[in-house]
Amino acid sequence: MLFPLDPNTSKCKVFEKLNAELIHFLHQSINEKRFTRKLFSILTGQECWDNQATKEKFEAVFRALPVPIADRQRLYDSIQNCQDLPLLFRDKTVPIPNITPVKLFDSVKSLTTHLFTRTKDLAGIKRIATESIEEHYQAYVRSNSELCFLCGTSSLAQNRFNIADDDQWRADYDHLLCKDKYPAFSCHPDNFIPTCHICNSKAKGAKDVLSDARLGRRKAFFPLPPFQESFHHLVAMVPVFSALADLKADGNLSPLRAARVSYPGATVDEREMIKSWIDLYQVPKRVGERITNVFCEYIDADCTPEDFNDFCEQIERKSRREPADIMKTEWRFWWFRLYQWLNAQHEDIKREAWELIQWKKQRVNDNNAAQTFGI
Ligand SMILES: [Zn+2]
Repeated sequence: MLFPLDPNTSKCKVFEKLNAELIHFLHQSINEKRFTRKLFSILTGQECWDNQATKEKFEAVFRALPVPIADRQRLYDSIQNCQDLPLLFRDKTVPIPNITPVKLFDSVKSLTTHLFTRTKDLAGIKRIATESIEEHYQAYVRSNSELCFLCGTSSLAQNRFNIADDDQWRADYDHLLCKDKYPAFSCHPDNFIPTCHICNSKAKGAKDVLSDARLGRRKAFFPLPPFQESFHHLVAMVPVFSALADLKADGNLSPLRAARVSYPGATVDEREMIKSWIDLYQVPKRVGERITNVFCEYIDADCTPEDFNDFCEQIERKSRREPADIMKTEWRFWWFRLYQWLNAQHEDIKREAWELIQWKKQRVNDNNAAQTFGI
């Protein structure tokens, strides 16, 4: 995605176990006429069998299965053959499991949603997996960082000092392939990534990563190992300045008319995958709004320039090399890209930026004086 994940980022062991159980169950069900303990594996299966709510969800799927053995085999094959999730993201010709009729689709969705929301927290399942989802989250943060790797604008969650991993707060886990459209993957270990609340709950929702509403099937970045696909190196920030004369005529205008995210040098394939990221998480709009709103204040506070020459020197220094915390601190990446753009501009453009910042600073000072002294 925007940033690459560490190649040692581990999969969530609880979901490795639960997904394996689902596949095992569908395989065992091909030739079975009755819903019995025989459909389940020895360890994980026993925990699912012993938990009444989980058992009932499995039973509902069994009762919704087609009667002909060939149809059951076809269902199993279509899900089993799609276990390589990176291939689904990278090859548009790989078929997606088609679970029909609706009753079967709904029962599979209900089961896998239950495995994801409830069964994963059973003590026996966590013991067999040797890890809870909370412990997986802490391992993820240690391998990567607390910054959302999808947007670079927000932390995932906040850890508290001296609290055990299993008791820490954790961030949302986004289903790359959403539960509503891809129930076969709702507990697949390659289908989860910790994300910030805005990316997961506000922007993404149930949007389809593999399908463009207008163009149909599309490619998308696969963020997890072994690929850790990312495109931060392709990103540029381009501010669009307002004319100073317009600001002086109308003090309510913003010094920036826009702040655009562009991808110079991206290939056609990369643009297709970046578009899916834009559609899903709406990051350029979020970044554009923020940078447009606080451009002058941020740069003035961050550089505290003494004069125009000092301003130019600081921009040069700040864009010379990547900050060490570029993938750890909120917004750092986006401001770094903005400094890089500013530094590459002719002196006339830098002076334009400088004058806008000075104008905004003066206006803020004037407003503060008016509020304080009533002048
Ligand atoms: Zn995010």
